[in-house]
Order: sequence, then structure tokens, then C-alpha cells
Amino acid sequence: NRTYDQSEAYYREACEYIVGGVNSPSRSYKAVGGGTPVFIKRAEGAYLWDVDGNRYIDYLGAFGPIITGHAHPHITQAIAEQAAKGTLYGTPTPLEVKFAKMLREAIPSLEKIRFVNSGTEAVMTTIRVARAYTNRTKIIKFAGCYHGHSDLVLVAAGSGPSTLGIPDSAGIPHSIAQEVITVPFNDLASFEEAITTWGEEVAAVLVEPIVGNFGIVMPEPGFLEEVHRLAHQKGALIIYDEVITAFRFTYGGAQNILQLEPDMTAMGKIIGGGTPIGAYGGKKAIMEQVAPLGPAYQAGTMAGNPLSLAAGIACLEVLQEKGTYAYLDRLGQKLEEGIHQLAQQFSIPVTINRFKGALTVYFGVDQVKNYEDAAKSDDRLFATFFKGMLKQGINLAPSKYEAWFLTIRHTDQDVEDTLQAVANTFKTLAAQV
Ligand code: PMP
Repeated sequence: NRTYDQSEAYYREACEYIVGGVNSPSRSYKAVGGGTPVFIKRAEGAYLWDVDGNRYIDYLGAFGPIITGHAHPHITQAIAEQAAKGTLYGTPTPLEVKFAKMLREAIPSLEKIRFVNSGTEAVMTTIRVARAYTNRTKIIKFAGCYHGHSDLVLVAAGSGPSTLGIPDSAGIPHSIAQEVITVPFNDLASFEEAITTWGEEVAAVLVEPIVGNFGIVMPEPGFLEEVHRLAHQKGALIIYDEVITAFRFTYGGAQNILQLEPDMTAMGKIIGGGTPIGAYGGKKAIMEQVAPLGPAYQAGTMAGNPLSLAAGIACLEVLQEKGTYAYLDRLGQKLEEGIHQLAQQFSIPVTINRFKGALTVYFGVDQVKNYEDAAKSDDRLFATFFKGMLKQGINLAPSKYEAWFLTIRHTDQDVEDTLQAVANTFKTLAAQV
């Protein structure tokens, strides 16, 4: 007996003024068969409240940034204190020194860093710098991986466009798309063929080291090691897109876990503590291509803005607390095991890919190791599942390609309540399979 009258009214009005009624296409419910997205007016800890007063246990986590839970008091205080001291100076600040140091200590390959305002900007700039450094133009990326909405990477991208069934975006010149070679993830033979064919023209290989954009997908043992070796053999750089993964699985990047060092890394999401941020960095010699030291230009009025840095520093301070990632892992495991059990009980065909506190539930496929597998997962079952969960107060991403993100504010009780909702939803779903 939840009602959505206020959300519906806001959505009608939003559609009058905002294109599609949303400020990012992944927020619409288009990929789950349409409907009114819930309009949220408040969030705290693991919960969201919509404009009709309905409460949700949140696993969207704002598509990844929210790992400390919403409105974490330490972060809220840091933002408030900084706001009172001014939000933007257009000068260097002690905050950026402090934060850059924290990031390099956590991720040693970030010998030099730049702060920008979004993951899109961070990735876009790593490519420019790689091109400047290598004096080459092409990049290799993996099918279904999303790297933001800049021209070059919006070719066979994932979470944004492919949920909408658009392989490319309109408005991207054919000549630009031709600079991008796309190969399936976890497919070494295809990568080897691509790098053998195009090697001398490839500036960089762009990698989500642990994929988050067609669900959570781990690299198979040895895969990335070979990608590194073959790319470097041809003089191409390795760029890790850790926009989702940085500080999601450990205090550091996926690179810390995989024990691999990319030449450059792009970050965003968590490092802003829920405020807009991006950052990129890498080996000193490569980063010295960037202006004012070098010829590769990148700038930003809002870059390194004090509010985002204060929030980011506070967020990392929270994550430094002992037991953070073990807690997320334990809750993730509890959720995974619970969903598995219920799937068996109700004969729902699910595959769950989980790493620590992030997981994806795919319907109707046996395994997911690349985008093709994920694409085959059942749209209809997912859509029904998503809407069933929403009605019971569980907020998931409205896309079969996204992850559920746990936060340190989720409790065992939240997970148990979630599993009750899963049981109820699977009961309905059982009639459909
Ligand atoms: N890279 C990856 C891996 C991402 O998941 C995203 C966003 N989902 C981006 C880049 C782009 O980041 P932003 O939305 O902050 O521009």
C-alpha cells in the first residue's frame, strides 16, 4: 500500500523542464520497461526516503560513491566546516596537498595526481595524456565497459548506453570511433589479435581491472597480467579506470588487490565522499606531459574544489577505520548466500557475481565473464524483480547491468529485511519462469 502520487507529480513536471525528466539516462526506468522513477528527498545511512514518505533500503549507492552510507556525520561535518570557510578560491590549497598525499599512500602508482570533477573527465584526460606521451592515437577497450561519456569511450560502452540498447551515441564522428578497438573482456586470444594487428598505433589499453559496468566481473587469473605484458611489449600504456573500484574493495584500488601497476589510473565516485570529483594520476614521466609542465592541456575552474576535497578526505578517514572492508565482505556474503538459497527454493535461475560488498544478480544465465554473457541475462525477469523489490522498499539500480552496493551503515537486520523482500519477489517471479 505504498503510494507514489508525489513522485508521479514531480516526474510529470520534471519532464516539462528536464530532458527525459532525469539528469542522467541511467536514472530513468527505461531499461526496466518504463515507469515513474522515485523522487528522493532525504537519505541517511542505508536508507532513502522519497517524496511520498516511503522508506527504502538503498543498494544503488548513487551508482557507487556512497560506501560510508548517506549523510555520514564525519563527512557532513567536514563539508559544513569547509563551506563556512569558502567553497572555491581558484588558488592552490593545503587540502589538495593533503588529499593527493593520502591517495598516493593508498595507491603507490599515483606518483603524480590531478583532481578534476567527474570520472568522465578523469578518463578522458588519461587518454589525452597517453596520446601525448606515446605520440599514437588508438585505444583498445573492452566491450561493455563504460568509461564516461566523452566521445572516444562511448563506443560499445556499457552501463549508460547499452542499458538503453544503443551501442553508440549519435553525435560521435565516425573518424573518432575508428580510433577505438573493442575486444571482449577475459578473452586473451582476441586481445592478442588486436594488439598484434594495431599494436604500433595503440596509445593505451583502457581497463576496468575489476569490471563494474556489466555487473561485477573479475578478471580471470593471468588475463590482466598478459594484457599488461603484450601492451607494454608494443609500447602501449595501461590505463586503469578505477572510477568504481577505487576504495570499493580495499583501502586502495583494484590494482592493490590484483598486485598490478598500471601506467595511469582514473578515479571518481568514492573519493569524493558523495560530492562531484574525479582524479587521474600515474607514473611521473607520463604525468609530466600535463600542463603547466608539458604540452598536454587539462584545466578546470572547479578542479580540486575545497568542498569535494574536504568530503573526500573525510570519506577516506572513515574507510581507514579497522574492519571496514571485512564488514562489507561479510554482509555481501550473507546477501549472496541468502539470495542463492531463495533462488533454489523458488527455482529462480540466478547467477550471482560478488566481490566483497558489491554484487550483481543475473537472471537466466549460467555464468557471466564478459559483456556478451551479461547481455544474455533475462530483461523481463530483472524488470519484474526490480519493481517487486522497489514496492517492498528496496532500491536497486534500474538496470540488469549494475551492482548492488553495500555500505558500512547497512546492518545484518537490513540484509535480513532485504532477503524477506527477495523471498516475496521470487514467489511472484516463480510464476514467470
Ligand atoms: N568510469 C567508470 C568505470 C564508471 O563506472 C563511470 C560512471 N559510472 C565513469 C567512468 C564516469 O564517471 P562520471 O559519471 O563521474 O563521469
